[in-house]
Amino acid sequence: MGRGMDGVMASKTPLFNRLALIGVGLIGSSIARAARAQGAVREIIATARSPATRRRVAELGLADQVAETNEAAAAAADLVIVCAPVGVCGEIAEEIGPKLKSGAVVSDVGSVKSAVVRDMAPHLPATAHFVPAHPVAGTEHSGPDAGFAELFVGRWCILTPPQGTDPGAVEKLAAFWRMLGANVETMAPDHHDLVLAITSHLPHLIAYTIVGTADEFAEVTRSEVLKFSAGGFRDFTRIAASDPTMWRDVFLANKDAVLEMLGTFNEDLAQLTRAIRRGDGEALFDHFERTRAIRRGIVEIGQDSPAPDFGRSHGGLPSAPLPRPYAVSDED
Ligand code: NAP
Repeated sequence: MGRGMDGVMASKTPLFNRLALIGVGLIGSSIARAARAQGAVREIIATARSPATRRRVAELGLADQVAETNEAAAAAADLVIVCAPVGVCGEIAEEIGPKLKSGAVVSDVGSVKSAVVRDMAPHLPATAHFVPAHPVAGTEHSGPDAGFAELFVGRWCILTPPQGTDPGAVEKLAAFWRMLGANVETMAPDHHDLVLAITSHLPHLIAYTIVGTADEFAEVTRSEVLKFSAGGFRDFTRIAASDPTMWRDVFLANKDAVLEMLGTFNEDLAQLTRAIRRGDGEALFDHFERTRAIRRGIVEIGQDSPAPDFGRSHGGLPSAPLPRPYAVSDED
């Protein structure tokens, strides 16, 4: 028996016999590592688009078997998780649909949900249970080397099952994610897309913009931009280093929600611009006070560290201990 971060005993009985991972990048390889560490499945079969990634997955020993094709990986699996960019989920569903075992649970990890449901659902047989998911956890790194078993610990995984999905299948997938350390919430796909547009997609767009803007001044200021980047810019550069394919697909797939949030953002930016132009210190102060309270709320609910410098280890500065739920177990 293992002990979770909250001290609750976690059963080591595998929830699924065979897990198929289609795509083994940051998210797929983190699922593989965490599922292994927690004994959530008996066996893992994995595949990726390129021979180079498939070779690397085999070298890292992330799966019991590495399949050459998506169809071969999905056949005979009890749980199939598509961990590829949002834009290819539809074609993957088309490939694997005819091969799925009756009663298999099919899921994904896409950062956008309405478009994934629209693209995947028509290709999946009625005998399979489709439970789309989005683990709200990540880093700016990609590929099978980038993953780690603790990625999902204390993070949310949002499930967006279509109406009429077998509740047993939804609960089984929820149990799988809980076993990997995540908290699970269920919501409608379009609601998910609106919430993530403001909490994730817009911040990425702003980071991509500001880093691009700084680059336009590169001729004059390059050395200063790098030298003084700890003034705030550095945190934008981390976000703006995120995978270009993934984020291109996210903005194309969640166009409407992002444009809606962007409209409101532009209005708010115009208000702050006006306050600066008019020298309205009170308006600026009130705004900054409100946003500081939001930051405190995020730290209070454990979604970020209160340590200085956004939780980066920093020489002599104190920082909160990292959660290590997999490190403790009754037997070892
Ligand atoms: P990644 O590190 O770039 O990995 C993507 C994987 O998908 C690679 O193994 C790639 O294979 C494979 N792939 C691409 N097209 C494929 C196809 N047609 N058939 C089979 N495999 C294919 O990406 P990631 O960061 O893990 O993201 C994967 C998904 O997770 C995306 O949908 C993203 O929206 C979602 N997500 C990402 C984050 C994050 O922070 N990164 C967080 C939450 C959710 P090759 O290496 O051979 O190209």
